[in-house]
Amino acid sequence: MIIVLKPNAEKEKILLLKNALEENYKVTVNTWVGVESTVLGLIGDTTHIDEDWVYAQDVVENVKRVQEPYKKANRKFHPDNTVIELPTGQKIGDGSLCIMAGPCSVETEEQINYVAQRVKEAGATFLRGGAFKPRTSPYSFQGLKSEGLDLLKGARKVTGLPIVTEIMRVSHIDMFESVDIIQVGARNMQNFELLKELGKIDKPILLKRGLSSTIEEWLMSAEYIMAGGNNKVILCERGIRTYETATRNTLDLSAVPVIKKKSHLPVIVDPSHATGKSSLVEQMSLAAVAAGADGLMIEVHNDPKHALSDGAQSLTPEQFDIVAKKVFALKKAYDEIMRNEE
Ligand code: PEP
Ligand code: MN
Repeated sequence: MIIVLKPNAEKEKILLLKNALEENYKVTVNTWVGVESTVLGLIGDTTHIDEDWVYAQDVVENVKRVQEPYKKANRKFHPDNTVIELPTGQKIGDGSLCIMAGPCSVETEEQINYVAQRVKEAGATFLRGGAFKPRTSPYSFQGLKSEGLDLLKGARKVTGLPIVTEIMRVSHIDMFESVDIIQVGARNMQNFELLKELGKIDKPILLKRGLSSTIEEWLMSAEYIMAGGNNKVILCERGIRTYETATRNTLDLSAVPVIKKKSHLPVIVDPSHATGKSSLVEQMSLAAVAAGADGLMIEVHNDPKHALSDGAQSLTPEQFDIVAKKVFALKKAYDEIMRNEE
């Protein structure tokens, strides 16, 4: 961190600031005295330094961070990729391509069991399905709630696929005890109280990117979970809000290589929520693989036209069969190209 001081800042005040920084944050402060102003260069772990506090000091003109404000999620402090392994053996981030597929919402036992079976046959490694649904309108279907969780567990029993489902409240954490991967949806990416509580449990958390969040804000949310001791975080790019209206969101695929550079955490892509259109899911899935994603989350419904949520972006099982075949074929070719490059 570099702190530029105001011209003619008094020597005593500079010393007080330097001492406060060194004592409170255990950093080394180098001082460069220029003709006009003085600059402080901080060396050490500056993640705990509150920039607002620095700005509030009356000798301070400007502050610039040269190091990211996140530490546990930062690749600089953890160069190797994080591989998340489930007790049932599935791995995420180990170089394989994981596919989480299933309906937006769990609707009936027949529906979830049928879709689970079909996506499994096509090569999906996880079953997704919402039991608690964050809907834009309070009048839309809100999910089957705890009954939906039970139906997901039933589908897991039938297919052996681990389940991924979204949590919306801290008070539901106990209810999610036997869920394999807990999803934090885009709308809750900055629900810091929820993130802190999820940091205390030993279970993988799928953290979706917020609707209008920067990559740094997203990584800071991952940091919230990791700061509590839970390092099993999987990031999910699901499109962000831009001025574009042709798609539901704008899929920020460059986030994948950016995250790979900045963080060691696995990152997957959700082309369904990103585009809002089933016709775009195949191409964006392939593009996500080419961007280096560790996996995909794809919505699949037995009867999209009559789905209780997100029918327009849901693939039929038949369409999913084709997409899965193509993404696995592309992944094979991608791995080969990358191997030849080494
Ligand atoms: C979902 O996965 O069903 C969902 C609501 O996603 P998002 O939080 O990305 O909108
Ligand atoms: Mn959905």
